[in-house]
Amino acid sequence: MPSFQTSPGTRDILPPQAGRWRAFSAQFADTVESAGYECIIPPMFEDLGVFLRLGDATDVVTKEMYDFEDKGGRRVALRPEHTAGICRSFAQHRPTTPWKVWYSGSNFRYEKAQAGRYRQFDQVGIEVLGSTDALLDVEVIALGWQFFQSLGLKNVVLMLNSLGDPADRAAYIEALRQYLESRSSELSEEARATLQRNPLRVLDSKRVQDKPVIIDAPTIAQFLSEDARGHFETVKAGLDAIGVQYEVNEGLVRGLDYYQRTVFEYVSTSLDSAQTAVGGGGRYDGLVEDLGGPSTPGVGFALGIDRTLLACDSENVFELGAPQMDAFIVDVVDGMTALRLSDQLRAAGFTVDRAYDGRSMKSQMKVADRSGARLAIIIGEDEAAAGNCTVRNLMTSEQQVILQAELVPHLASIVGERNPRRNTQ
Ligand code: AMP
Repeated sequence: MPSFQTSPGTRDILPPQAGRWRAFSAQFADTVESAGYECIIPPMFEDLGVFLRLGDATDVVTKEMYDFEDKGGRRVALRPEHTAGICRSFAQHRPTTPWKVWYSGSNFRYEKAQAGRYRQFDQVGIEVLGSTDALLDVEVIALGWQFFQSLGLKNVVLMLNSLGDPADRAAYIEALRQYLESRSSELSEEARATLQRNPLRVLDSKRVQDKPVIIDAPTIAQFLSEDARGHFETVKAGLDAIGVQYEVNEGLVRGLDYYQRTVFEYVSTSLDSAQTAVGGGGRYDGLVEDLGGPSTPGVGFALGIDRTLLACDSENVFELGAPQMDAFIVDVVDGMTALRLSDQLRAAGFTVDRAYDGRSMKSQMKVADRSGARLAIIIGEDEAAAGNCTVRNLMTSEQQVILQAELVPHLASIVGERNPRRNTQ
């Protein structure tokens, strides 16, 4: 028989790690819902055309798309990111604006797998459609910042830049192309190939050979229109006003073509791999229109869950909690009492686990200890015959025999009241 393994670039997120992922998304939801963002769940695959809007010179589109023809002959692709799908959703449903949404889910990119870079990776993020207000950019950037703080991360730096309006950007790209071509003999072979496709991306090169050329390159700041410059100034003043620190980085261009005006990235200085960006985003005022909707401005960010958790590991924050249970039922008679009591107690709102397979008292007690339960509820022959149970506090080893019929109020008096899970009316 073949033995199967996960495909390259994918991983099983096993328990208890997976619990940490859920806690991560829940904490993110809490942060952004407090600012009026609502959850959206877009499909995992869309018409390929939706994602082609990310830009035909981007790596995501040219090299990394998981696209295929389905059995109905449609050309579809697994989403490489969420923003384009959310803009398609906006164009399709035309909700009232500003439309403030958040998401949490997987994306797929056929990348070279390495630490912090996977082919299936998860992101949480927010998007706001329908406002050009520069103070909205500030809100978006600050919410990401606040979320990193809430995780306990200290070593995250916010990088900020403006890519100007489309005409500014086009003029800049042309000037950059001319400059880079004039010095192309000094560039690495990879940077020369990138230059042909997308001069902006040359600025992302980490190769030592390319550094001196990049340092002298013209910067976008010289090409910003008055409006774009004013917008950028307001964003900076807003961040200053609420004490969010940033570094203006004129080399920050972001990988996707749709950005204009504000772009930003959150970089972890405690990750030592090449992959230090834990999140990023920006304004994309033309994307909804490109997808067949009305002209609608947008701004948002995406944070990589995988990489942010790596940053948490290296700063020893947002650590895995110990397992917790209210009670563990040990039934050494025939398991029927455990079945009945666990059903009753769970319905009453308690967290309850039990052992199976009629194991010995000793082996069941071992599982009870491992479960993180506060109490063991023990049913031996005597207890079963008398309708009793022994409730043992696993931390203090104190124990007490009580009627099974009194378990619910007894548990509540020890672990606190719980909300019933089942409607018993
Ligand atoms: P992007 O959509 O490329 O701007 O990415 C936003 C964030 O998602 C990055 O800062 C990373 O944290 C994360 N990310 C992007 N691509 C990957 C990947 N292949 N594997 C893991 N995380 C990724």
